[in-house]
Amino acid sequence: MITIKNGLVLCGFNLQAVKTNVIINDEGRIIKLSPHDESGEIIDATNCIVMPAFLNAHTHIADSILKDVGDGLTISQLVEPPNGLKHKLLNEATDEQLVESMHEEAKEMLYSGISTFIDFREGGIEGVKLLKKAVYDLPINACILGRCNEYYDPKTTVEEARLLTRELLQYCDGVGLSGVQDVDSEIMMQIAQVCNDEDKLAVVHVAEYYDLQEKSIQLTNQTEIERALRAGFTTIVHATQPVLQDLDLLVENSPFIVACPRSNGMLSTGIPPVSVYNEVGLDVALGTDNVMFNKPDMFREMEYTLKAMRGTYQNKITARDILKMATINGFKILGKDISISEGNVSDILVIKQKSEDPYLSVVNRSSAEDIMNFIMGNQM
Ligand SMILES: [Zn+2]
Repeated sequence: MITIKNGLVLCGFNLQAVKTNVIINDEGRIIKLSPHDESGEIIDATNCIVMPAFLNAHTHIADSILKDVGDGLTISQLVEPPNGLKHKLLNEATDEQLVESMHEEAKEMLYSGISTFIDFREGGIEGVKLLKKAVYDLPINACILGRCNEYYDPKTTVEEARLLTRELLQYCDGVGLSGVQDVDSEIMMQIAQVCNDEDKLAVVHVAEYYDLQEKSIQLTNQTEIERALRAGFTTIVHATQPVLQDLDLLVENSPFIVACPRSNGMLSTGIPPVSVYNEVGLDVALGTDNVMFNKPDMFREMEYTLKAMRGTYQNKITARDILKMATINGFKILGKDISISEGNVSDILVIKQKSEDPYLSVVNRSSAEDIMNFIMGNQM
C-alpha cells in the first residue's frame, strides 16, 4: 500500500484540483481518495501537484539515430517513403544501432514522465520486433503500430494486403500508415477493416500540409481527411490543414485527432487548429512526432501548443485543456481511463508546484527535473 499525501491532486477526466490523499494498493490500483485517510508507505507531496502521467500519442523513435539531420530540406525530401532522406538513412543503419538508439529514447521519455507512447514503426514484422527488443527491460508501455513494405508495391492485391495485415497484427497493436495517398485506396480500406475487426488501432497521417490536400482533391474530389474517415480510420495524425467541409466531417465522425504542433512548426507545414477542434468537442491528443526533428518531451509540446494556439487563433484555450491532451485524452485512444479516480490503475506523476495555477504550473513552468515521483501501475 502507498499513500501520496498532502498534494494538490488533479482528479477525474476534468483534472479537478483537489487537496486529498491518494491511496494505492499493492496491485497499483487507486483504492481511495480522501483527505483524512492514509495507509502503508507515505509519499509526501507537500507543495506538489499529483497528476496523471503523460502519453505521447505519436512518435517515430527509430528516427533518433538521425537527430537534426537534413535541416532545411522540404518535408517530402526528408520523410516521404520510400526515397526520403530518413528512409535512406534508416535502411543504412544496423539493427543494433536502431535498437540502442530506440532504447535510449524510450529511457528519455520515461525520465520526462511519459508512461506510454504510440509509435509508427516501419519495416514490417522485423521492425516491430526491433522496437520490442529496445523496450523490453524498461517500465514504459509501447503501443506499436506497424506497416508492411508490400503496401507500397503496386503489384500487391487487396487479398494479399488483408493477409499481410492479419499476420502483422499478431505482433503489434495496430497499423500506422504514412499517408492516404501513398497506398491504393482499396488496400487502405482493407487495412482499416482488418484492424477494426481485430480491435486494433488503424491510424494514418492526414492533411499535414496544404499541397497534400490540394493534390487529393484534384485526383479524387475528396480531401485527405474525408478519404481517411471513409476508409474506416478512427484515429488520424496531424489534420494540420483542414479545408472545405473537413471540420463538419470531423464533428460527424468524431475520430481521435493526434496533433503534433512542434513537428508542424519545424517542417513549416502550419499550425494545427487544435483550439478549434477542442472547441467543437473533438478529442485531441498531443504527440511529439519524429525524434529526427523533436525531443520527445511533452512539457515542450504543451508549452508550444498553448502559445501557438493563443498567438494564432486568439481564443481561450486553457492550460487545463492542453494538459488533458497530453495525458488522459491520449489514453482514450487506447480505450483506457487513467484519470485519478477510485478504482482506476495508478499512472501518476508527483511534480513540484511552481505557481498558484496548477495547470499553468505544469504547462508553462515545468520540466522533467521537477518530477519528484512516478508511480506506474499501468503496465499493458
Ligand atoms: Zn508522424
